[in-house]
Amino acid sequence: MDVVKITPRGYCYGVVDAMTMARQVAKDSNVPRPIYVLGQIVHNRHAVDELESLGIKTLDGGRRDELLDQVPEGATVIFTAHGISPHVKEKARQRRLNFFDATCPDVTKTHTLIQEKIQQGYSIIYIGSKGHPEPEGAMGEAPEGRVALVSTIDDVRELPFDGSTPLAIVTQTTLSQWDTESLIAAVQERYPLAEVHNEICLATQLRQEAAVKAASDVDMVVVVGDRRSNNSNRLVEVVKKVAGKPAVRVEQVEDLNPVWFQSIDRVAVTAGSSTPTQVTREVIRWLEEYCPTERN
Ligand code: SF4
Repeated sequence: MDVVKITPRGYCYGVVDAMTMARQVAKDSNVPRPIYVLGQIVHNRHAVDELESLGIKTLDGGRRDELLDQVPEGATVIFTAHGISPHVKEKARQRRLNFFDATCPDVTKTHTLIQEKIQQGYSIIYIGSKGHPEPEGAMGEAPEGRVALVSTIDDVRELPFDGSTPLAIVTQTTLSQWDTESLIAAVQERYPLAEVHNEICLATQLRQEAAVKAASDVDMVVVVGDRRSNNSNRLVEVVKKVAGKPAVRVEQVEDLNPVWFQSIDRVAVTAGSSTPTQVTREVIRWLEEYCPTERN
């Protein structure tokens, strides 16, 4: 079986920086212990396990402000690459916690945009995934009543703004341009004067475009990424919807099922921007060693 390694794939600059910051914090003996990460540093179990082995505990399974309540007085907390709401940062200051902010510069750019638009009198329609930490942080830049989340076409019907409100549409960084197109069109149909700010980051865009391009020349695409990784799930989606080719997501080499490849001659591999290189390398090696004679 031919194995095409799609580039770019895997860790993006925001994730590399967040992991580097966390490793440095763990090494620094002057940093007060215990050290926590508010949510998964990036949505990947292997990355979380690595930090755990360095003595950094991950607090997970809730909104950031709720998780912060679990951090004891005097401890250290790291904010993840997904960004953090100013309200949670302020709460950390008030509680005199030591904090490090690993927010990706591309997410900070979206926060700044929302702040500016709010100051100019706009309300924000944020297109993003429900329950994901990035919308939680970014939407926290706007006062209540001046921001609404849109994840589906049904959400557009529920938007509370009247026609005279100046509106800015802002997208989450890890969505796909193909998905957001239909949601933006639905919002603009209801609010024709709404301004559009496409905030999908370059790393996400390049990985998606490369996956779609490579998919046209193979029988199937394997995406390596965690089930909670928004950008990994989007990679599967764009291959299926835009390129019309089969795609599967696996978290690690153990998830590969030989049955999937019985009639496949050429497979392409990519990885979400939160997937460690080593995990993807193991998947590629397995595929390269997959023996066609085992197909029957
Ligand atoms: S996916 Fe984009 S926004 Fe998210 S951490 Fe990577 S570069 Fe930053």
